Amino acid sequence: MSTDHAAPTILFGKVFDGTLDPALDDGAVVIAGERIAWAGPRAALPERWDRPDATRIDRPGRSITPGLIDGHTHISFGNARSEEELALYTPVEYRAIKAGVNAKRVLQAGVTSAFDAATTYDVAVNVRDAIDAGLIEGPRFAVSGKQLTTHQGLEDSFPNNMAWPPGQAAVLIKSRDDLIEAIRYQIKDRVDCIKVSGSNDLMITPDSLDGAAFTAEEFAMIADESHRLGRICSVHARSRDACRDASAARFDILFHASYIDDEGIENCLRHGLTITPTLTFLMNIVDAAAGTHASSAADGIRRELDSAFEMLPRAYRAGVPMVCGSESGWCYVPYGDWHGRELQIFVEHLGMTPIEAIHAATLAATRCFRRFGHEVGKIEAGRYADLLVIDGDVGADITLFQKKSRFDFVFKGGRAVDLTPPPVAREWFFERHKLFLDGRLHYDETQGTGYVTRL
Ligand SMILES: [Zn+2]
Repeated sequence: MSTDHAAPTILFGKVFDGTLDPALDDGAVVIAGERIAWAGPRAALPERWDRPDATRIDRPGRSITPGLIDGHTHISFGNARSEEELALYTPVEYRAIKAGVNAKRVLQAGVTSAFDAATTYDVAVNVRDAIDAGLIEGPRFAVSGKQLTTHQGLEDSFPNNMAWPPGQAAVLIKSRDDLIEAIRYQIKDRVDCIKVSGSNDLMITPDSLDGAAFTAEEFAMIADESHRLGRICSVHARSRDACRDASAARFDILFHASYIDDEGIENCLRHGLTITPTLTFLMNIVDAAAGTHASSAADGIRRELDSAFEMLPRAYRAGVPMVCGSESGWCYVPYGDWHGRELQIFVEHLGMTPIEAIHAATLAATRCFRRFGHEVGKIEAGRYADLLVIDGDVGADITLFQKKSRFDFVFKGGRAVDLTPPPVAREWFFERHKLFLDGRLHYDETQGTGYVTRL
């Protein structure tokens, strides 16, 4: 891996290296080939790098950070507006093409690594491979397959008299034999992680945040078989029971954990779990619903946020690692727009410092990437040169991570990413659910006209 011969690129600015150490005010980062060759104070830049053929990027007031790691995306979901759009509409081939384009949008938002937490069809694993092969541009992905669910988990949202929709991003588990078979099947299909739906969701089933979709014994079977075959396992767990039982079963990642209790926190500490809350998704639902009838779930989600804002800081201060994730792929969090909001939420609602939030979106997130976590997420010689250069001090204004116009550069593997946004695509009828009217057209006798009542 000798890189001394390549003409280096040298970035100058305030360096936030992804650790919890204070930023380096006047720092330099040397990129040689696809790796970081050196990082430290400008004054200590070694002569062998400070050479005439070097490209120097030296603008005042810039921050340099590791590329963001988004700990929870759905690259195959196509910004779906409903369960029906996800499960029923858009042919799989078209979904895959869209996912390839959307992967570039995610990368252009500064996300150089991402964890994909459930896929429709087998799109995610193939997007990952197409990026790694150099066919298309996007973050380095670690991916899950379809999530394992039961009648009490996510995605079993259609009536029992209907066949399981092929696009649904889950596999319905009906027996313990099914459970083991599904894990082995997905690992044959080269997933990085087994993802489980451990509880339900207010968006799909109202008043569904009690209980768990699997028993404690079944959670343990999943974790044991995933680990035996060399994979990590993660769980959608909003309810107290799902958090408690999946953490006791030694899962690796709890997603959401809004209603985790002290026993669940204790289990996380004892067994080394990470929590990826994806609060951006909940906050965006509430924001989108303000003043409209856009989301009947908003009141329940406000209550869920109240619990999350109480319990997650408690878990974090007790020592549970916390990772930023956006849920990008749903209509509330379209690709490329919201990847940086979780940092702001961690500062404003979980009580983190900006340095802690940056850590949660970089180095802390590398624990979710068994294959390449040791090569990303930190500005350190030898790791991939996955870097952001941002106009402004991100330590003073954490919202800069959401402002793409302030990004001078996104580097992935030492190459500057083309930041020209892809054209806005037209939407075909076959991508849309068949909602005729968001309400009902009634007759007003006095006016002699129709009027719409919304649901
Ligand atoms: Zn998700």
